[in-house]
Amino acid sequence: MKTLLITLAFLAFSAFSAQQNVYICTGSSSVAYHKTSDCSGLRNCKGTVKKITLQEAQKMNRRACKICYK
Ligand SMILES: [Zn+2]
Repeated sequence: MKTLLITLAFLAFSAFSAQQNVYICTGSSSVAYHKTSDCSGLRNCKGTVKKITLQEAQKMNRRACKICYK
């Protein structure tokens, strides 16, 4: 039982501390962040596709892409 609790605590901790990367388009009309760089929502990107952390994307007031975050 104790081992299970430690395993769960470790899993919760690693999920929390892991840096999740997302992809954004630097074009001025872009408002979303994407899970994958090959999302169809990024295909008509007028700027460049940039890999940043989820925290950074949220700081930039980006919302989750409706195509890759269903
Ligand atoms: Zn997307």
